[in-house]
Amino acid sequence: MDKETLRANLDKVIWNIEKARLEVSEHHIVKLVAVGKYTSVENIATLYSLGQRAFGENQVQQLESRSKELQDLPIEWHMIGTLQKNKINKLLDIKPSLFQALDGIELALALEERLAKKEQTLDCLLQINSAAEDTKSGVGSETAKDIYQEIIERCPHILLKGVMSIGAHTNNLKTVRQSFETTYKVFDSLKNKGASICSMGMSGDYELAIKCGSNLVRIGSSLFEE
Ligand SMILES: *Cc1c(COP(=O)(O)O)cnc(C)c1O
Repeated sequence: MDKETLRANLDKVIWNIEKARLEVSEHHIVKLVAVGKYTSVENIATLYSLGQRAFGENQVQQLESRSKELQDLPIEWHMIGTLQKNKINKLLDIKPSLFQALDGIELALALEERLAKKEQTLDCLLQINSAAEDTKSGVGSETAKDIYQEIIERCPHILLKGVMSIGAHTNNLKTVRQSFETTYKVFDSLKNKGASICSMGMSGDYELAIKCGSNLVRIGSSLFEE
């Protein structure tokens, strides 16, 4: 992709984020994580040169190869996809800045064990499956608060920073909005436990997500469309 196309896409996304966040409040600051899974490592480097700092990948393998290839750039890497237990060590060696898809107590305990062994900590978000879809990972919205507390108590090497959710998979905006509102409610109830990040919104729904309180959006397709 040429740099001017990427620049135009980035400008447009940033402008849309700006409009949506100002509808909430001028104090509502939203972070953009660019998702690279549909694009090349060259385009990621170009987007970095245009000022984008945070990038996300949904596969450990991809995260590993790209963070290695671009190791000279001070990029902030996010792991946003489901983590299989046999990839835990690989993920911890990459030392991502945030693991956004902690999807249950079982994975938390497995992570905790490896983290303790390596004397590392990891910033994480608890993934909430607020639309209760079978195809998505994450904890149910009713149990999320208890599980969050349990992880805090049982996993001292996991530093929980908030929640992550993928909007309901439907064209029905009302249903998507409800799923974001459900996640935001859980996030709000966790603020007194230190939750500061509410990660929701992708290319198709980030403006709506921001209006529902998201302060981190994960965007791929809209940034890399030609
Ligand atoms: C791919 C992906 C995104 C970005 O999706 P787009 O619709 O391309 O913006 C965001 N979050 C997760 C977890 C993803 O896997």
